[in-house]
Amino acid sequence: MTTVEAPVSHLRENPYEIAKQQLHRVAETFAIDPNLVNVLQQCKKALVVSVPVVMDDGRTTVFEGYRVTHNVARGPSKGGIRYHPDVTLDEVKALAMWMTWKCALSGIPFGGAKGGVVCNPKQMSEGELQRMTRRFTSEIINEIGPERDIPAPDVGTDGRVMAWIFDTYSMNKGHSVLGVVTGKPLTIGGSLGREEATARGALYCVREAARKKRLLINETRVAVQGFGNVGSFLAKFLAEDGATVVAISDSATGLSNPNGIDVQAALAHKRETGSLTGFRGAEAITNEELLLLDCDVLAPCALEQVITEENAAQVKAKIIVEGANGPVTPAADDILEDKGVLILPDILANAGGVVVSYFEWVQGLQEYFWKEAEVNAKLNDIITRAFNETWATQENRGTSMRLAAYGLAVQRVAEATVTRGIYP
Ligand code: GLU
Repeated sequence: MTTVEAPVSHLRENPYEIAKQQLHRVAETFAIDPNLVNVLQQCKKALVVSVPVVMDDGRTTVFEGYRVTHNVARGPSKGGIRYHPDVTLDEVKALAMWMTWKCALSGIPFGGAKGGVVCNPKQMSEGELQRMTRRFTSEIINEIGPERDIPAPDVGTDGRVMAWIFDTYSMNKGHSVLGVVTGKPLTIGGSLGREEATARGALYCVREAARKKRLLINETRVAVQGFGNVGSFLAKFLAEDGATVVAISDSATGLSNPNGIDVQAALAHKRETGSLTGFRGAEAITNEELLLLDCDVLAPCALEQVITEENAAQVKAKIIVEGANGPVTPAADDILEDKGVLILPDILANAGGVVVSYFEWVQGLQEYFWKEAEVNAKLNDIITRAFNETWATQENRGTSMRLAAYGLAVQRVAEATVTRGIYP
């Protein structure tokens, strides 16, 4: 007899409560009007839809899907769609709020949104995924659009899924609507550099932080958790900059080698076999062990809440670069700050993705596409400026980088809300 273990969610705390707690901390430090905090702590709109899908075996499974808009004071709402078994409405609300702050900090003209479907994409066939995506798109079709709300990839979704969303929306409108979704494949209006953009933005942040801390990238030891779109490219870019990548992991395996892992070979292994399991030239470790390894830079690039009050004191890294959204809980933040760890917060460190999404949206609206070097240079400008504004704010205010980044962002959204006025 086999016993099936009940799935355990990676979410120990309610992420929406965390997001609201962060907002209240920021409001206190930056003296934001409590009336505005009341507005900003709520999501403007939250849609819950049921998504019936005929599975390959003929049975019908009904998935639950969400699309949440947090705020549109600075422009149409923007944010990814997540396919994961642990997705909850409150998680999507938190992620939507973080998108509002992320876009404001980067100075791109968007508000924040997020979507999700509770499913396990790794256990679904391509046909099932396509039918689920098309039905989900149809259920939220009146909410999305180039001037309204623009989805993108997130955990568990990719260019292929974006192509189905683009096609479903366009078929319903009767013409191709390039601006409805970003992260599209290059053949149908995607942007050069979008796939690597989140990691590239994180790389630019690490370079700036290293400069401030007088560290040389080619002398740093890096541990990267997560080997998906963000972690795999970040490990590759840091290795190309001369860093020693001492550990990597995916959801199945962790690998460490104090002399450095051959990231190119690991990428090839993942491409061929679908996971890091069985990769030679490194010792197997758990994801938990990876977070506590002796290294200079730790990059959590997987899911939320991996560094908590339980393990924060044992983190040895000097710099944490948040490739994922919400990987460090507020309680862990306090412990790490006391230890003098420099945290490059999610809304800064992983903003590269949405910044190049903005470029893709602009290119789509103009039907004029840029060279990759142009995309990367413009991305570098925006991320480096956001980093330096955040750095200056943390110095002036004597706060953490997280509080500085959130403070700048919340102030910008608050200002836009006041300038527009509250309707009617
Ligand atoms: N899902 C990504 C994020 O969390 C990208 C969002 C986008 O490009 O709209 O930032």
